[in-house]
Amino acid sequence: MISDLVIIGGGASGFMAAITAISRGLRSVVILEATSKVLEKVRISGGGRCNLTNACCDISNLVNNYPRGEKQLIGLFNRFSTTEAFDWFQEKGLSLKVEKDGRVFPCSDSSEDVIKCLTSVAKKSGVTILTNSHVQKIRIIEHGFKLLAKGNNLFEAKNVLICTGGHPSGRRLAKSLGHSIVPAVPSLFSFSTCDKSLRSCSGITLDVQIKLNINNIKYAEKGPILITHKGFSGPVILRLSAFSARILNANNYKGELKINWLCMNESEARLILDSYKVENAKKKVFNNKPFDKLPRSLWKAILLGLNIDSQLKWADISNYQKESLVKCLIMKTYAINGRGPFGDEFVTAGGVSLKEIDFKTMESKICKGLYFAGEVLDIDGVTGGFNFQHCWTSGWVAGGSIVLK
Ligand SMILES: Cc1cc2nc3c(=O)[nH]c(=O)nc-3n(C[C@H](O)[C@H](O)[C@H](O)COP(=O)(O)OP(=O)(O)OC[C@H]3O[C@@H](n4cnc5c(N)ncnc54)[C@H](O)[C@@H]3O)c2cc1C
Repeated sequence: MISDLVIIGGGASGFMAAITAISRGLRSVVILEATSKVLEKVRISGGGRCNLTNACCDISNLVNNYPRGEKQLIGLFNRFSTTEAFDWFQEKGLSLKVEKDGRVFPCSDSSEDVIKCLTSVAKKSGVTILTNSHVQKIRIIEHGFKLLAKGNNLFEAKNVLICTGGHPSGRRLAKSLGHSIVPAVPSLFSFSTCDKSLRSCSGITLDVQIKLNINNIKYAEKGPILITHKGFSGPVILRLSAFSARILNANNYKGELKINWLCMNESEARLILDSYKVENAKKKVFNNKPFDKLPRSLWKAILLGLNIDSQLKWADISNYQKESLVKCLIMKTYAINGRGPFGDEFVTAGGVSLKEIDFKTMESKICKGLYFAGEVLDIDGVTGGFNFQHCWTSGWVAGGSIVLK
């Protein structure tokens, strides 16, 4: 029997597409999942809580969270955005909550409930879900496609939707049908540095301004940084890693990171230091810091890095020492020498070239009846629920478009 639609990959975008397609009238929709469990990434996401979208609903702001796909997502989000995804899950019985920073989670804080919601809706709607069905080959036949899955199982479909996430096999299948692939590189990672001056500060988080210089290509961001045992992580670093993912990869993850610990300019910092020096002349520099926002251990690490004597009093700080301190506080440079571990999230930048996709339908411009959704495309976002959001969106558009033809 030839199915109306075979979806390769039982992840976020595959389930959204399957449920949408069948709800719009497609009769036979099959999900072929390579592994023994569907929605495995949903399960591990958000530290087991699944940050499934974000409360950011202004589309022009929303697309700023996508280093790749920003332009194409404008049209897609105009049809199914964060608000629609939020309502979709609530209507399907999954209660959601918005955290202070805008991230959306299930009220239960359990990703298992997102899985239960998607699998039960899919099953009730009549979607066929076949696990242990790794698709190895696709061939174009008259009126559709023939697919060869693990165990020599053959499937026929009028339409095929590739939703294989960051897995290389999906990109291979796309290539075999004529698509060009933008090489895949990791995104959303921390930075490591061989500068050991901040090792005692591991675990500290604070708001900073940062600038990254990779061979004179410059990036700037502002937000919370986390000092780690080997370097830097936290939202601002993950965001920077996403926007510079390709260029950092090309430069072997080497660059210069400038940190403004105070988020103020040189003269503001100097003014505060000068008046603090006068008011606290008899006090020790090490034990008395002029900037409340700086944790004590970071203040000490910065002073030690400048070889300032631990007994020095504010009255005795030299002009040279004070100027070095100002520089260190507002533009200290750390040499980045590699990619550290991933944060809570990891995605692949790169994938099926966006030039070859019709974003009104998610259909291939090269091969009729072939569709794409989710991370297999050269689209990725920063942390905060933005990655799942583009998967719900492209899955919803693809699933809906196949029916409308
Ligand atoms: C640890 C971690 C935490 C994350 N947390 C978050 C978060 O909290 N919020 C957020 O927005 N994003 C998060 N992400 C990113 C998010 O998980 C992905 O962007 C999203 O899952 C991509 O969905 P997808 O449907 O495109 O692909 P996937 O969810 O990766 O699904 C693809 C499926 O296709 C299957 N497959 C691959 N090849 C074949 C084949 N040839 N035949 C059959 N099946 C195949 C795979 O086994 C897989 O099940 C996280 C990622 C990781 C790794």
